[in-house]
Amino acid sequence: MLSIHNLNVSVKGSSILNKLNLEISPGEIHIIMGPNGSGKSTLSAVISGQPDYIVTDGTILFKKKDLLLLKPEERAGEGIFVAFQYPIEIPGISNQLFLYSAINAIRKYRNQPPVERFEFLQSVQKKMQLLHIPDDLLTRSVNVGFSGGEKKRNDILQMMMLEPTLCILDETDSGLDIDAIKIVYNGLNLLRNTTRSFIIITHYERILEYIKPDYVHILHKGCIIKSGDLTLVKKLEEKGYGWLY
Ligand code: ADP
Ligand code: MG
Ligand code: MG
Repeated sequence: MLSIHNLNVSVKGSSILNKLNLEISPGEIHIIMGPNGSGKSTLSAVISGQPDYIVTDGTILFKKKDLLLLKPEERAGEGIFVAFQYPIEIPGISNQLFLYSAINAIRKYRNQPPVERFEFLQSVQKKMQLLHIPDDLLTRSVNVGFSGGEKKRNDILQMMMLEPTLCILDETDSGLDIDAIKIVYNGLNLLRNTTRSFIIITHYERILEYIKPDYVHILHKGCIIKSGDLTLVKKLEEKGYGWLY
């Protein structure tokens, strides 16, 4: 589904990702861990198509298409979703309007008719209940005045509504209390199927209580220096990152 080969990325003139390789097949969950500043968020940013992040070498193929030729909104249309480490606030745009517009923009890209408003509302309310999101968050401006936990749960709501094929979660579990983590990962598990893949960036071993990843990768100085299975997470918890480099 996603094939990253020899990726080099620079931001504002400095090189951040170096010779990064990553292969993700349909239905797989990949966890990415790594010290602060190793380039984890840069990887999510470059996959989403943020213009500050310049690919200086290498390729990214998504469903065999050259992702780097697509605009950010076309990448979303193809099924890529990124929950950013720091969700942005959009004053003046209600959460409801934002979600409805996003869904219909993606449907338009796929030559599908817009979703019917009543059907949309029913679906969004059902998912909000699952995620324990209060009703008024629908009519408030996107993320404005939301608590940290509400922002992260709102990201999962977007993900559930947009039904992407590749979901990237950048530290969605950071700063959440135990109950909120459970809610977020339950939501994620509900979305698991044989065709949808996940990249989950996290610092926490406790993710294993909720998610069983297929692969775990360690990013260091912009390069994946080790890949393994979930035992790698436990090893990191015991030994830290030092033994790896
Ligand atoms: P991580 O998510 O692993 O903590 P980041 O990808 O956020 O790491 O950052 C990797 C490096 O790239 C850091 O040194 C950071 O300062 C730099 N960097 C990332 N984004 C930008 C940006 N927009 N402008 C300048 N430097 C950036
Ligand atoms: Mg960081
Ligand atoms: Mg980061």
